[in-house]
Amino acid sequence: MDELLIRGAQIVDGSGAPAFTGDVGIRDGRIRVVTTEPGGQAQRVIDGTGLVLAPGFIDIHTHSDFTLPLNPRAEGKIRQGVTTEVVGNCGFSVAPALPGKAELLGDYLAASAPWLEFRETSFAQYMDAFPATSVNTIMQAGHHTLRLMAMGTDDRAPSDDELRHMQEMLEEALQAGAIGLSSGLFTTPGGYASSDEMIALGHVLRRHGGAYSSHVRDEANRVFDAVREAISVGENCGIHVQIAHLKLSGTDNWGGASELLGEIEAARERGVEVDCDQYPYTAATNPLRNLLPTWVQAGGMAAMLARLAEPETRQRLRHDIEAQGLNNFGRIASWDDVRIAISPHQPQYAGKTMGAIARERDCDPLDTVCDYLIEDQGHTRILITSMTEEDVQTILRSPTMLVGSDGTSLAPYGITGQAGVGT
Ligand SMILES: [Zn+2]
Repeated sequence: MDELLIRGAQIVDGSGAPAFTGDVGIRDGRIRVVTTEPGGQAQRVIDGTGLVLAPGFIDIHTHSDFTLPLNPRAEGKIRQGVTTEVVGNCGFSVAPALPGKAELLGDYLAASAPWLEFRETSFAQYMDAFPATSVNTIMQAGHHTLRLMAMGTDDRAPSDDELRHMQEMLEEALQAGAIGLSSGLFTTPGGYASSDEMIALGHVLRRHGGAYSSHVRDEANRVFDAVREAISVGENCGIHVQIAHLKLSGTDNWGGASELLGEIEAARERGVEVDCDQYPYTAATNPLRNLLPTWVQAGGMAAMLARLAEPETRQRLRHDIEAQGLNNFGRIASWDDVRIAISPHQPQYAGKTMGAIARERDCDPLDTVCDYLIEDQGHTRILITSMTEEDVQTILRSPTMLVGSDGTSLAPYGITGQAGVGT
């Protein structure tokens, strides 16, 4: 006899077929039968009348590697039907951390995961030590992390040895079970990489059957070039590419979604395996420092904080932002579109916009941003509203798109927040 029978549910089987009313019988932890014939018996019966029964959802793009160690039951996901998460996105992974470099990685990821303890680990050790979680977790190696380990925050091309080192670390991660490499070319230090560096890593992916996912170099004024760059890595290496959270950010770029999707469709017609994911919001989240032109971060956190105090830096920032808008996010209407989410050293400001803080301090908004970063040691995380609903909906309708939360697994007892439960 089956151990479990779910009776009379509306079954959506994930094949694309229309929903139908039926029973599902489970034996030895596996689905034994899906049937429209009523009358099955089981040790335990659940009445599914009026309910939808579907395979577990895959959250294709998350950062739950930052929270699952604290929220292993992932209630925010599992209660909404998500049973698998793909983590390690946008170039950020918690491993590897080489001897003497755990602190560097911890500081780098502090605006995303201030609660995590970073210790020296290979990718294999990291996966072994990862706790048992209610969701299946699919890991990726992050390009930022590999580059940090190989060459710190240097703004230059890697030497042959450094490139080989990154390739070896990627290989180790893939052999340990990572499905691929993620990049986050929109910010440092990964953004210092040329396309050639990504192609060199792509060849390693090819050898191991790995995939490439990319938070592209620019999601605003140069988003078309950036999407083409990601596609070209896949095309050059013969690997699957996933464009992370496809969007057109910044008021100058609104309305271009169909044309941007056309780039993906054209590549697919050429035989490139390329898809995209999307979080269905007009707002994004990122460390505050990543909104500024990338040159401000050269040399790492301490160098950035020292630089931000200088009037010349602020003048140059003002000039660049007036000309181009924000790094990766483009032009916003005002700093009221940027809201503090996580502020490890000034938690009292969480929920306030940078515009409101500037008014409160009777200070220029850009000076306020610079001051704030210094006060918060560069660790501030923000929400930025920089997309238009029309583009979000156009991308959402594309058959090449999979929905991902870009959030983290949350739980009533651990860490909480919006994208992780709202998507
Ligand atoms: Zn991203």
